[in-house]
Amino acid sequence: MKRTAEVVIVGGGCMGASVAYHLARLGITDVVLLEREKMLGTGSTGRNAGGVRHQFSNEANIRLSLESIGLMERFAEEVGHPIDFHQDGYLFLLSSEASVETFQRNVALQRRLGVDVQWLEAHDAAALVPGMNVDNVLAGTFCQRDGIADPNGVTMGFARTAQALGVTVERDVEVTAIATTSGRVTAVETTRGTIETRNVVNAAGPWARAIGQMADVHVPVDPIRRHIFIAAGDPMRVPPTHIMVIDFDTTFYFHREGAGLLFGMGDRQETPTFDTTVQWDFLPQVIDVAVTRLPALADASISRAWAGLYEMSPDGNPILGAASGVDGLYLINGFSGHGFQHSPAAGRILADLIAGRDPDFDLTPFAADRFVSPGAAAGERYVV
Ligand SMILES: Cc1cc2nc3c(=O)[nH]c(=O)nc-3n(C[C@H](O)[C@H](O)[C@H](O)COP(=O)(O)OP(=O)(O)OC[C@H]3O[C@@H](n4cnc5c(N)ncnc54)[C@H](O)[C@@H]3O)c2cc1C
Repeated sequence: MKRTAEVVIVGGGCMGASVAYHLARLGITDVVLLEREKMLGTGSTGRNAGGVRHQFSNEANIRLSLESIGLMERFAEEVGHPIDFHQDGYLFLLSSEASVETFQRNVALQRRLGVDVQWLEAHDAAALVPGMNVDNVLAGTFCQRDGIADPNGVTMGFARTAQALGVTVERDVEVTAIATTSGRVTAVETTRGTIETRNVVNAAGPWARAIGQMADVHVPVDPIRRHIFIAAGDPMRVPPTHIMVIDFDTTFYFHREGAGLLFGMGDRQETPTFDTTVQWDFLPQVIDVAVTRLPALADASISRAWAGLYEMSPDGNPILGAASGVDGLYLINGFSGHGFQHSPAAGRILADLIAGRDPDFDLTPFAADRFVSPGAAAGERYVV
């Protein structure tokens, strides 16, 4: 293993891979990416639903989406790897007056930023997804350019191209400590020895807090378990569309997956945990909500389920940029359930900062110190 590097990246999920790729594109290739598992992309990245959308409440997140979706549309040509990106759209269903009001405001914001998003009446929403019950739906929003992509394809595309450009990727190596001298990063300790470096990127997803602690930096990210279920489908009864439907007020979501249906829902009872065991007793709660919206699910059998970890920040916005208090430590953390889709832009922005370039992006809402001085920025409301 290399004993010195200009930049060491801790974590081989979509974030670490994106930073590696964007550094390499800037000509910074004396970079080592360290992943403790035997393969890349087995953390949150390997558990996610692949959803990609422009529809966020926070301007900075919409800007991340515009840039990231732009790159995903060009991914095969620009990065050189297929990502199976289908832009069948995201449909949000709103069933409370409060949500309608929030979404009206945010649709105006999204349109001002150039997002083509439609405001729908309940019957328009029903027409998009045959078999869906919209009895208590007051309105909906739809953006055709939203969609679903392959998280493994994005991660491996970034990582392989970074390697081809000269970046070193090491698997099965755990970072155990970060050394600092006079407030500056000097090295990382690993299970395979020390690497001297002046720049460390914390791309450890749900484990970001522990990496921060190694340098005495507080990274307020909690691991929160989220489930995904697959219903084996009778193709005649599963909606024929691949639109991602999000029932905003319950957080129940679904989209067609092969001949079946992928679905999930947030669990407000979850407390921070690294346990990713499937809680089967949560399934009946999901089904109760699900059959109201999608009656055909009552007859479906569940063929598969898994759980992964959201890396939650206190306000649902990421923590992106230089850490305060320790020079040379960079954070790309806390994406709160929407990190896969924002990894292209987030990696580009962080690579620019490391290279000393202007990222041309207002990072105020993502600043690491925003929790110390509250009120600096509003968080994200569309966390599903
Ligand atoms: C069920 C579920 C559904 C989701 N759906 C979506 C979605 O539809 N759209 C979307 O955009 N996002 C979604 N997300 C969120 C998305 O998966 C995450 O935001 C994203 O994957 C975070 O990527 P990451 O690279 O930061 O973290 P990870 O993929 O977790 O990568 C971090 C890596 O760091 C490694 N690591 C940790 N500690 C060390 C150490 N000490 N030394 C070396 N390596 C270390 C870990 O092994 C891991 O591989 C979902 C998440 C879940 C759980």
